[in-house]
Amino acid sequence: MSWSGWGDPAQARELPERIRALLRDLLGVRAPDAPAVPLEAVRLPAVALDGPVLDALAAVAGPGHVLTGHEARVRHTRGKSTLDLLRMRAGDGSDAPDAVVLPGSHDEVAELLRVCSEARVAVVPFGGGTSVVGGLAAARAGFAGVVALDLARLDRLRSVDAESMVAEFEPGVRAPEAERLLARRGLTLGHFPQSFEYATLGGFAAARSSGQASAGYGRFDDMVVGLTLATPVGTLDLGRAPKSAAGPDLRQLVLGSEGAFGVITSLRLRVRRAPAERRYEGWRFASFAAGSAAMRALAQEGPLPAVLRLSDETETMAGLAKPEAIGSGDSGCLMIAGYEGDSVAGQRAAVSEALSRLGGECLGPEPGQEWERGRFSAPYLRDSLLAAGATVETLETAGFWSNLPRLYDAVRLALLGALGAPLVMCHISHVYETGASLYFTVVTPQEADPVAQWERAKAAVNAAIVAAGGTVSHHHGVGRDHRTAYGAELGPAGVSVLAAVKARLDPAGILNPGVLIP
Ligand SMILES: Cc1cc2nc3c(=O)[nH]c(=O)nc-3n(C[C@H](O)[C@H](O)[C@H](O)COP(=O)(O)OP(=O)(O)OC[C@H]3O[C@@H](n4cnc5c(N)ncnc54)[C@H](O)[C@@H]3O)c2cc1C
Repeated sequence: MSWSGWGDPAQARELPERIRALLRDLLGVRAPDAPAVPLEAVRLPAVALDGPVLDALAAVAGPGHVLTGHEARVRHTRGKSTLDLLRMRAGDGSDAPDAVVLPGSHDEVAELLRVCSEARVAVVPFGGGTSVVGGLAAARAGFAGVVALDLARLDRLRSVDAESMVAEFEPGVRAPEAERLLARRGLTLGHFPQSFEYATLGGFAAARSSGQASAGYGRFDDMVVGLTLATPVGTLDLGRAPKSAAGPDLRQLVLGSEGAFGVITSLRLRVRRAPAERRYEGWRFASFAAGSAAMRALAQEGPLPAVLRLSDETETMAGLAKPEAIGSGDSGCLMIAGYEGDSVAGQRAAVSEALSRLGGECLGPEPGQEWERGRFSAPYLRDSLLAAGATVETLETAGFWSNLPRLYDAVRLALLGALGAPLVMCHISHVYETGASLYFTVVTPQEADPVAQWERAKAAVNAAIVAAGGTVSHHHGVGRDHRTAYGAELGPAGVSVLAAVKARLDPAGILNPGVLIP
């Protein structure tokens, strides 16, 4: 993984001329290309942990599994939001951990938490490092130092219960490896977020992730039937039946807890038979409103395909590489419908019949194939845009169907108000019977201080989402970036419950301080 950008540096993409033209002509981006500083030039604080603490950590995890070198610290600094990348590109490593510790078992994690509680060392659980909400930057104040607890060595498929269709994984397994291990048995999780290539199962659970095929397979939190959490005060082992009436479901306290309550060391996940066939195709609707109404009909009355997404007019035109048509209003909106199963013909016919009846025009397999080819590659483009002087970032929310148009308008207006004339694109990315999520992509010319520029825009959007009755995150989580708005969403009583749980499970407050709890 690139330390200052996304993914495999070998796959870095040059900006195509049509996108350079769009930046220049539509947005007025004029800045010359600005490369990231070299890795050696990233400025890190001196290692704050003293020898005895480092020795105590090494006594638990093994001497080779406590790293304090420059590169290891840089690679565990923050996550992959645009703010994170802007800071890293500029050589700002001020949030670097003092040490990276790689435990090899649940017992080692539990013991490390005990050692760190005693020494008042903050612990940041680190999965794939793809957080986009500031979930990996601990607040240092009041701590002897900060440790990144990299879960990469906890990378095994422990067991498969083929009768119950449940697989038990360790948390550090990356998504592609999980799919490879399951594919050998003809199984799949069906969880394909855009961060698929690097994110881990533990991170998906800790941040309540949602994948591109959520209409067919559900969100990641729907897949978790059981889990183990190491905390400074002991172990929670939750989920002994598919459903239970034995009190509140404590699994739900752990899902979305972003390392603030404990470290997930094991996950029991519902799996499905791997589909023999996958087919994605495009549909055109006259407007976002018409496409959205069609999605609602499918979500409420069926049939529902495995993948269902709808771009608004602006995103449709940008995707079709016709920037001159943006804003012309006659582009229509592109919907991608995807079918997965042993044989998809019947499902496809039923959905197609419904979409035609609801006003859609079938565009055939080409747009679907193009979407499939590019489904994990957009983040590479972000790096090239940042280098070219444009800020590009994504943000997301969700709401009930009746409130979705208001939420859409509120986010757009907040972005326009904060940034002047940015390019704002949106798609409906996940649907439910009662509502859907909106996923926005924003492109704007960088100001002299692009970090302050985006912080201003993000604060405006968060406030607008809360005021418009949406949730501050559908699948990215809370981290540091959404904490204040999350507090407004929860209200004082809700915040006090979270704080009480934190105080009980993590009395020394070492777990990911500054993240999640408002
Ligand atoms: C380009 C890009 C595309 C993305 N696309 C999507 C998408 O389509 N859908 C989506 O849902 N998200 C998406 N994300 C967000 C991100 O991938 C998810 O939040 C993912 O769940 C994080 O997984 P990770 O393993 O990288 O976790 P990390 O980023 O390492 O950690 C995320 C949070 O969980 C905590 N944590 C990690 N592991 C554990 C553990 N074992 N126990 C306790 N706490 C833990 C961390 O401390 C942190 O607070 C995207 C991110 C990027 C950069």
